[in-house]
Amino acid sequence: SFVEKGYFMVISKNKVVAIDYTLKNTEGEIIDSSVGQEPLVYIQGIGNLIPGLEEILEGKSVGDTFNAVIPPEKAYGNFDENLVQLIPSKHFAQIPNLEIGMQLQANMGGEVRIVTVTSIEENEVQIDANHPLSGETLNFDVTVKSIRDASQEELDHGHVHGEGGHHH
Ligand code: ZN
Repeated sequence: SFVEKGYFMVISKNKVVAIDYTLKNTEGEIIDSSVGQEPLVYIQGIGNLIPGLEEILEGKSVGDTFNAVIPPEKAYGNFDENLVQLIPSKHFAQIPNLEIGMQLQANMGGEVRIVTVTSIEENEVQIDANHPLSGETLNFDVTVKSIRDASQEELDHGHVHGEGGHHH
């Protein structure tokens, strides 16, 4: 029925939402897209998506298609020079084939972050802990595919279970 498919639902906090999306940068290059693959399934209102996208999705219904231009402050943040650091090479001795562009997990102040190797000198390696899309204004084309209530278990875990989500 229409009700089961979520036609009378709107996106609001704790709804499980499936969207098709295409993400482009300001140059119009496609960075990521779900088109031709499984839709992205997430829980609205708990920080699964970048804030700017959740904001625009709030109140939308199944079948809605829209374009959203999201500034860095509501996406992956502005580029922070303090997150670019020089680390003595000896700390990378265990990593085979270290190269520029490689992404590594690093423990920074007790927090695990993904960092990108941005230069390699004889005694030092430069790493950048900014998100690769920091500083970018993002352009999304979005279609809402389905909406349903989240289960209590999904809310407890903070992620979607079943189709398009975690299986555990
Ligand atoms: Zn779970």
